[in-house]
Amino acid sequence: MEREDQMPLGLIRLLAILLAAAMAGGCSLPLVSEAELASQSAAEFEKLRNTTPISTDGSVRRYVNCISKAIIAELDEPYASKDWQIEIFESEQINAFAMPGGKIGVFTGIQRAAETTDQLAAVIGHEIAHVTEQHSVKRVNRELTTRGSVAAVAAVLGGPAGTTDLLAMGAQIGLSLPYGRSQESEADIDGLIFMADAGFDPRASIQLWKNMERESEAAPPEFLSTHPSSSTRIGDLIAALPPALERYNLARAAGKNPQCSR
Ligand SMILES: [Zn+2]
Repeated sequence: MEREDQMPLGLIRLLAILLAAAMAGGCSLPLVSEAELASQSAAEFEKLRNTTPISTDGSVRRYVNCISKAIIAELDEPYASKDWQIEIFESEQINAFAMPGGKIGVFTGIQRAAETTDQLAAVIGHEIAHVTEQHSVKRVNRELTTRGSVAAVAAVLGGPAGTTDLLAMGAQIGLSLPYGRSQESEADIDGLIFMADAGFDPRASIQLWKNMERESEAAPPEFLSTHPSSSTRIGDLIAALPPALERYNLARAAGKNPQCSR
C-alpha cells in the first residue's frame, strides 16, 4: 500500500528550490492591497454592528459625527472624500477604533477617559491616522513577506496560501490585536496634526492619556489592550506639541472652530 504522506524526492527538491528562491527574495508573492483589507474590515464592522447595541442617543451621535467629520475634512486625498462610516456603540467599554476603508467605531464608554471635545478629537484623530498611514495593511504585508517561504511551500502542496487568515488578522488589528510601537508613535504625531488642523486643541491629548492611565488603575480599558499607555508616550506628545500648536493657531485664525458638544 502506498503511503500518501511520503513525499516523492522530486517534490522535495522542488520545495527546496522554491524555499531558497523565496528566502532570496526571488519569490514575488502578491501582497494584500488596502482595498482587500477594506472589504474584510467592512465585514468585521458589520458583524460588530449586529452584535453590539448601537447608540440611539441623538446628542452623542451628533457629537461624535461632528468631531469625526471636522477631522476627516482635513485629511489628504483619497481619505478626505472617502465615504467614512461612523458608528457609536452603546457600551461601557473605553474603546474606539478606525478600520481600513473608512470605518470608525466609538464606544460610549470612551467618554470616561475622553472627557472633553478636544480629548475625544485626540482619540479620533489618532485612530484615523492608523488608517491614513495604512498601518494594518503594512502589518499584514510584513507578515505575508515573512511567511512568504511558508506560503510558497503550502501552495505547492495544495494547501492554503495563508492570505485569507492574514486578511482576517488584518481586520482585527486595532480591535483585538495591537498595532506596533512605532505605529503608535506615528499615529500620535499625525493625530495631533489632524486635530489641530481641524481646530481642536492638541494640548488635550496629554490629559487624555493621563485619564487613560487613571482608568487603567481601576480596570485596564479595552482601548489599552491595543494601545499601550506610558509616560514615554506623554513625553513624546509634549515634544511634538509646538508644531501642532502652530497649526492649531493657524486653523483658529482661519475660522476653524468646530462646535461639537453633547
Ligand atoms: Zn493607536
